[in-house]
Amino acid sequence: MKEKVSPFLKNIDSESIRRQYYINGTENPSAYSDPLMEDSHEVVKGLIHKYPNRALIKVSYQCASHCRFCTRIRQIGDPSGTLQENDIDNIVIYLMQHPEIEDVILSGGDPMYTPALTKILLQKIKTIESVKILRIGTRMPFQSPGSFSTPLLANLLQLIDEIGQTKPFYILVHIEHPDELTTETQKVLAHLRTLKVTLLSQTVFLKDINDSFDTLFTMFKSLYHLGVQPYYLYHCDNVIGLEHFRGDIAKEKAIAVQLREHLSGIACPLFVEDVENGYGKLPV
Ligand SMILES: *Cc1c(COP(=O)(O)O)cnc(C)c1O
Ligand code: SF4
Repeated sequence: MKEKVSPFLKNIDSESIRRQYYINGTENPSAYSDPLMEDSHEVVKGLIHKYPNRALIKVSYQCASHCRFCTRIRQIGDPSGTLQENDIDNIVIYLMQHPEIEDVILSGGDPMYTPALTKILLQKIKTIESVKILRIGTRMPFQSPGSFSTPLLANLLQLIDEIGQTKPFYILVHIEHPDELTTETQKVLAHLRTLKVTLLSQTVFLKDINDSFDTLFTMFKSLYHLGVQPYYLYHCDNVIGLEHFRGDIAKEKAIAVQLREHLSGIACPLFVEDVENGYGKLPV
């Protein structure tokens, strides 16, 4: 069957990047499942409250990337996921009624793909006293580095920098392969490093794409040199339809052990599996 590639993909020089966006023809979008039971923890539209002290907000389902292995592939691109003004108000009310939530993670979709909306949300959340920590997850530095020179995104970064002066702010970049660290991307990461934020990374093990010691060693070492601290390395979630991305966990564990041996502690991610019964991300 002829392969189709995400229309969002710009850099297809690298086979390892291209394969993350293949639509291989065997997928059945109606079968994509929700093994982490996020939908049942969505207490108000867009807010997932699964763990006592932290909440995850899906700003929209829009994303520059459309990775074929996305945990939320069942939703990505659906315009109905975009938060409206009253959704934001409901989220703010929920956070105020639940002061045990001290750590708020903006996710989606990609919150940096909708910078104006993310800015409105952050402006409201920053005033909630019980929220002590903020995080934002993004793949834009790799997928769309040019966007960082647009006024809308520059504006959002300015607000992040400002909030970071008073509350710890983490930017979590999602990277899969060292080929994604182009010169343009490295410039964006260098710029993010000048903000009052902590830069972390997260990565998913992908079968035949990055599940080799050499590939991941190169990537984490480069990130370490760029001032990005690897946070999580995930086993690919058990979503129906993503089987071809999911590798052997014993092989992945051996790679993770080897990485730990060769990388500084601060350059080495924690290998986790997000287990289905609600325990969350457990170290393998
Ligand atoms: C990953 C995740 C978090 C944050 O977990 P940490 O282990 O603290 O990084 C919070 N809520 C949901 C729903 C998550 O999936
Ligand atoms: S960047 Fe993240 S949210 Fe967007 S498609 Fe990829 S995994 Fe999903």
